[in-house]
Amino acid sequence: MRRPRPTEESRARAARITQSLADLLPDEPVPARSAGRRTTGPSGAAGSDCPGCGEPLHRAAVRHGVELDACGACGGIWLDAGELESLTSGLDPAPGRGAADEAELRGRVPRPASRESDVRYRECPRCRDVMNRRNFGTISGVIVDECRRHGLFLDAGELEEVEAFLRAGGRAVGEASRARAAARQQMPPPPEPLPSTREVRHERASSTALDVLWNLFFG
Ligand SMILES: [Zn+2]
Ligand SMILES: [Zn+2]
Repeated sequence: MRRPRPTEESRARAARITQSLADLLPDEPVPARSAGRRTTGPSGAAGSDCPGCGEPLHRAAVRHGVELDACGACGGIWLDAGELESLTSGLDPAPGRGAADEAELRGRVPRPASRESDVRYRECPRCRDVMNRRNFGTISGVIVDECRRHGLFLDAGELEEVEAFLRAGGRAVGEASRARAAARQQMPPPPEPLPSTREVRHERASSTALDVLWNLFFG
């Protein structure tokens, strides 16, 4: 794997990540990192290789007891299992303030630009198993890499996209969407006899004629 050396740019990017995390969760100071010491604690992936580019991950910040392991080379962030939930638990809007449905959600926060040119399965930095790709919150369009046992990896910018999605009420809209999909799977609609082509054509023609009349009188 290519191991890019830290550059001025990568260091600046790491500083920007730390700053954006501080903006996201402003109530805890970033602890000073002791120089030269490996920051691997009882949990966390600091000292492991970044799943995105292979550079060593570094402890970037501790927020609400959550350790964030960031990569200064590619801007990715590793979060141990459950940490994303802890980090983002306060971001949901008050009841009634979030988007009511997916259309309204898309009006508030556009679907993130596709990174599909970069589809590849990555290794968990802790167990080396290939991680799953998961659409965060079912419908966010933010594709995170997840090891079910150890945690997940966010590419540069994805934490901000997750934040915007949640602030717009995406969690509730996504849960409703997932519940609808589950209900559809549990209760398949009763099979209906397929209408013949002639009936379909007739139905379409009559509904079109009705539309024309309707528009003529009331349009
Ligand atoms: Zn990286
Ligand atoms: Zn793992």
